[in-house]
Amino acid sequence: MIVARYITGKYAVLRRIVRVVLLVSYLIVPWINWGDRPMVLLDIASRKFYFPGAVFWPQEFYFLWFVVATLGLALFLFTSLFGRMWCGWACPQTVYTEMFDAFGRIVSPRFGKASQKMWEKIAVHSVWVLASAVLTFHFIGYFVGVRAMSAEILTSGPAIFTDQAWPYFWLATTGLFYFDLGIFRHNFCVYICPYARFQSVMLDRDSNVIAYDSHRGEPRRRSKKLTPEEEASFGDCTGCTKCVQVCPTGIDIREGLQVACINCAHCVDACTDEMSRFGKETLVGFNSLNYFEERKKSRLLRPRTVAYAALLLAVIGAFTAALVNRTPFQLSVVRDRNLPPLLVENQAQNYYNVDVMNMRERPVELYLSVETAEAGETRVTQLNQIVGENPLRLKANEHRPVRVIVQGVPGAESGERTSAAAGRRSVPVRFVLKESADEAAADSVTKESMFTIPE
Ligand code: SF4
Ligand code: SF4
Repeated sequence: MIVARYITGKYAVLRRIVRVVLLVSYLIVPWINWGDRPMVLLDIASRKFYFPGAVFWPQEFYFLWFVVATLGLALFLFTSLFGRMWCGWACPQTVYTEMFDAFGRIVSPRFGKASQKMWEKIAVHSVWVLASAVLTFHFIGYFVGVRAMSAEILTSGPAIFTDQAWPYFWLATTGLFYFDLGIFRHNFCVYICPYARFQSVMLDRDSNVIAYDSHRGEPRRRSKKLTPEEEASFGDCTGCTKCVQVCPTGIDIREGLQVACINCAHCVDACTDEMSRFGKETLVGFNSLNYFEERKKSRLLRPRTVAYAALLLAVIGAFTAALVNRTPFQLSVVRDRNLPPLLVENQAQNYYNVDVMNMRERPVELYLSVETAEAGETRVTQLNQIVGENPLRLKANEHRPVRVIVQGVPGAESGERTSAAAGRRSVPVRFVLKESADEAAADSVTKESMFTIPE
C-alpha cells in the first residue's frame, strides 16, 4: 500500500477546496427533498429517474444517451486541452482515497510510516470501514432514498435484513469501497481504470499536462556538495526526490509522461517548495510537451480540440432541443383486436385501447380528440370519440389506460374524394391529446391509427 508523503502548496489547497465541495454535495444531495420525494432519485425498480422539476420515464431512455455523450465528449475535449484533470481533481477514486488519507493522518500521527503502531493501524482501518459504510449508504440512497432507508433502519432495526434487499447491497458495497479505497487505492488508476489506458489517444504534444522541465532540470545533481565549477555543469534539479515521495502512484515524473500519472499536482507543489529555497521556478508544472521539450508555445486550437468542441456543441444543442420539446404527457393507441368494428345505427364504430401518461409533477386535465389524418377525407365524417371522461383528470405522474370508442358517419364511396387511398375501407385517423381545449395549446401529442368502415 503506497501512502504518499504529505505535501501542501497552492494546488493542494485548491484541490482540497474542490474535494470538500464535491464530497459535501455528494453527501447532502440525497437528503434534499423536492416536494414529497428526493430531489435526485434514480429509481431503478420503477424505472423512473427523478430530478428537480422533472421525472424521466423508461420510454425517455434516449436522454441517458445524451447525458453519456455529453459527458464523454466533454471528457475528450478537456483531456485534449488540459490532460487528466478529471483524474486528479474530480474522479471519485481520487477524491475518496485522499479523504481516507486525511482520516488516516487525523487518527494516526505516524500514518504511512514504518514506525506506525499496530493499534494505530487498527484504528485507521476501523475509521475507513466506517467511512466506507457512510459513503455507500449515500450511494445506495441515490437509488433507494436515504430518508426511506434511515426510516427503515430506525423502525425495523436488524429486521431490515429479512425485509429488504438493499442492506445486503450496502454491506457488499461497504466491503468493496473499503478494499478499493483503503487497500487497493491508486492501483485502480494504474491497473484497472480504462480511462488511463485510452487517455494517450486524446493527448498530443500541445495538451497541457504535468511534466518535468528537462531543459532546466538535467543533468540532475547526485550530491549536495558541489564545487562552483561542478555547479555550472549540472541542471537545476537538486535530486531531492520530493516529487517522487509525494506521488500517490509512486512514479517519477522526471522519467516523462506516464500512464500512472493522475494529474494530482502533488509533484508540482513539492518541486515549487524545493525550488523556492533557491529562488527558482518549479521544474515540474503544467504546460505542453512542446514547451517542455522544444520551448514551443502550445496551441489551444487544433484539429482534435476543434472537432471535440464542435461535436460537444452539437450534442448539447440536440440535448437542449430534446428537453425543450419534451412533451409532459404521452399517448399510445392500440386498436382492440378482440372487438371488430361494427355498424351501429348507420355509424361505424371502432374500439381502441389508449394509454395516457401525465409526466408532470402536478395534476393535469388532458383533452383527447380524434380526427381524420388526411386532408379532404370523405370516406368518413363526423368522427366522435366516446370516452367515460373527457377531459381526463390525471394525478401527478399518473399512467392511465383508457377505453375509447370512436364513431364516424361513413361518407359516399364515390364523388369528390381526394384521398390517394380512396376506395379502401380503412381510413387513417389521428388521436390528439392536449393540455387545453384551446386549439392553439402549445403542448399536444398525436398518435396515428386506422378507422375501419365495416361492410
Ligand atoms: S507524477 Fe505528479 S501529478 Fe502525476 S500522479 Fe505523481 S504526483 Fe501526481
Ligand atoms: S522535486 Fe524538483 S528538484 Fe526535487 S527531485 Fe523532483 S524535480 Fe528535482
